[in-house]
Amino acid sequence: MRTKSAELFAKALRVMPGGVNSPVRAFRAVGGDPVFIASGKGSRITDVDGASYIDYVGSWGPLIVGHCHPEVMDALEKTLSTGTSFGASTAGEVELADAVHQAFPSVERVRLVNSGTEATLSALRVARAATGREKILKFEGCYHGHADSLLVKAGSGVATLGLPDSPGVPRALAELTLTAPYNDLGALEEMFRVHRNELAAAIAEPVAGNMGCVPPLPGFLERLRDLTAEQGAVLIFDEVMTGFRVGYGGAQQRYGIRPDLTTLGKIIGGGLPVGAYGGKAALMDLVAPAGPVYQAGTLSGNPLAVAAGIKTLELLRRPGFYERLSAVSEELTAGLASEAARAGVVLTLNRVGSMFTAFFSPGPVTDYASARKSDTAAFGRFFRTLLDRGVYFPPSQFEAAFVSAAHTAEDLALTLEAARYAFAGLGED
Ligand SMILES: *Cc1c(COP(=O)(O)O)cnc(C)c1O
Repeated sequence: MRTKSAELFAKALRVMPGGVNSPVRAFRAVGGDPVFIASGKGSRITDVDGASYIDYVGSWGPLIVGHCHPEVMDALEKTLSTGTSFGASTAGEVELADAVHQAFPSVERVRLVNSGTEATLSALRVARAATGREKILKFEGCYHGHADSLLVKAGSGVATLGLPDSPGVPRALAELTLTAPYNDLGALEEMFRVHRNELAAAIAEPVAGNMGCVPPLPGFLERLRDLTAEQGAVLIFDEVMTGFRVGYGGAQQRYGIRPDLTTLGKIIGGGLPVGAYGGKAALMDLVAPAGPVYQAGTLSGNPLAVAAGIKTLELLRRPGFYERLSAVSEELTAGLASEAARAGVVLTLNRVGSMFTAFFSPGPVTDYASARKSDTAAFGRFFRTLLDRGVYFPPSQFEAAFVSAAHTAEDLALTLEAARYAFAGLGED
């Protein structure tokens, strides 16, 4: 079977914690050993044993145009030949910053960093500096990277491992992070009543993706915007996943809400390490060297990441891109729903654009508590059957799956065939 993957994992376990560089890759939530990937092309990835999979992870979101898109590769090769890093300003950084500003009008100024984690922790620092307050509000099941302040009730990876919070996070810091259930207007009102005029920031995934895909209920983001504005708290939309995913202008464009700060990552690096935070000029001008809030990065604005990002965004601007992607995604989730129904498997399919989750639960799934009611053992069996039949889904119930522009009608047909087989197996239990 996956002999080379097994050998590599055995070796990895000796030299890396849990054998991986990011927890969910270890497949602990679904059972079995992880697959080691050798290459990717379009909608497919190939493992080190030569098996090919239709990929619905897409590196956890960045690869919206598929693996090794020829135009992205071309941009990368051209950049590679001129140097990989200077630690000095380049034209590409300005171009990417401008493209982000054009796509997100709320982002008047933007700073590039190297990961989503860096983006959110930096945005929080700005919010605290701007308000002179220390408390922040986040929502249960939302993940904003692994900075100390944000590793509280943080969704997928943490949920998967069953760690309530992480040891090593100073209690004094965690105490400044308040949490409320996602999509709960009553709890939201209560938070802003109890901590009246004390919050530096509220941070939210405007479409949650890290407890599985959970869209905002009507009124939730609107009320969050109103309350933060009323009480002078900075509203941070963490669009690391949703930015350029649920639409070119992200969730803020889709739902018509203007946050004060936005964090980005994933797609804007086209598969290379990147992150960004930006927003109102008055807030971003607090960042050094324009202002006193320190934040820096040796490799920030890296030429390769920037080149891949610029080219990816250019591909996304082509007419009809999101309409097509959304139509393909709709077809896939509708197909999954009808295959499940036919087999008598209870499924709740949440989808926004090209991100979706098939929860093994009667639903509705609107927050972390309802997501957690899913039958994760059934999901694990579903995942493993798909994997054996050449379909690579996220290895956790609490992660969003992603469709890319490279997925074809044939991919969908093969995926649904594998799903039919998997659901039939589950129906028998
Ligand atoms: C992936 C993700 C992050 C963290 O980004 P990294 O690049 O993994 O540090 C933060 N917020 C959201 C919403 C994400 O999906």
